[in-house]
Amino acid sequence: MIIVMRPYVSEDAVAEVIDLLADAGLDAEVVTDQDRPVVLTGAMESATTASLVGLDSVERVIRVEGPARLVSRAYSSKSSVIDASGVAIGGGTFIVIAGPCAVESKEQMLNTARSVAASGARMLRGDAFKPRTSPYAFQGLGEHALKIMADARDETGLPFTAEVLDPRHVELVASYADLLRIGTRNMSNYALLKEVGRQPKPVLLKRGRTATIEEWLSAAEYVYSEGNSNVVLVERGIRSFEHSTRNTLDLSAVPLAKGLSHLPVMVDPSHAAGRADLVPALSRAALAVGADGLLIDVHPDPKAAKVDGDQALLPAQFADLMRDLKAIAPVVGLAL
Ligand code: PEP
Ligand code: MN
Repeated sequence: MIIVMRPYVSEDAVAEVIDLLADAGLDAEVVTDQDRPVVLTGAMESATTASLVGLDSVERVIRVEGPARLVSRAYSSKSSVIDASGVAIGGGTFIVIAGPCAVESKEQMLNTARSVAASGARMLRGDAFKPRTSPYAFQGLGEHALKIMADARDETGLPFTAEVLDPRHVELVASYADLLRIGTRNMSNYALLKEVGRQPKPVLLKRGRTATIEEWLSAAEYVYSEGNSNVVLVERGIRSFEHSTRNTLDLSAVPLAKGLSHLPVMVDPSHAAGRADLVPALSRAALAVGADGLLIDVHPDPKAAKVDGDQALLPAQFADLMRDLKAIAPVVGLAL
């Protein structure tokens, strides 16, 4: 159950609710969602619900089951729109975030940034810290890469997202990036989720590659319940028996997650497929199925890329894709 208090109620009013729940044998957890306290508790008798609803300080009592509560549609039937330095994610605009998997050099990043900006990307991607399967593989350029991303932002006017791998790096990455990203390998890193939940920058939360939709929404709840309601879900493929693709893009997850949660849902077809030839078709499908946007890997010389070259589009291929997406968007009622 969720007890939504009125905005700016006093601590005494919250204590009154907690006492009432304690009398009914229920534990309570209090979190703050924007302007108001919200009290989370277990299933209650209808008499307890009636007493709570009778309090002036209580706005609503909502029945929600399962771990994902504040991110659920039951809590907010209105779809959330997340602001990332002036770019709205959700709310009827389809946004495309594009760039290389990793920042490799200033030249590589600025060339890519200029070309994706010219094609209509609304944000840039380019990582400073990479979670590699092998400890001997390229791990990213660290803060130097974040500085290059800030230069790319200055030059193009496009904000950027970067992955944060480690709770100790949250402050550093957040001091540069407009939108933090939690990667698939860290979706269940609860210490990291809590840390990004305690700072104000919006967060892209990728689905764990073996996570159910409920586990993914519960991960979003970790961030949200720490006070950061600016969470965007990203479907990026799940592991299956099929090896023709790196992961199996679960397009059904998009309408499912949007039905269960008020958070925006984006799709990363590049990391799902792991191969560039499938990215345009999967991108068109993601738009048609109701996603709020895409993350697309683009590299000026994919064969020479230090990370994930097989899945990167050339800038010209990205321009073609954007042209197709712009043609489809109005048909599905989205602006691009
Ligand atoms: C990435 O976006 O560069 C990335 C590592 O993605 P994922 O976490 O989905 O594998
Ligand atoms: Mn990658």
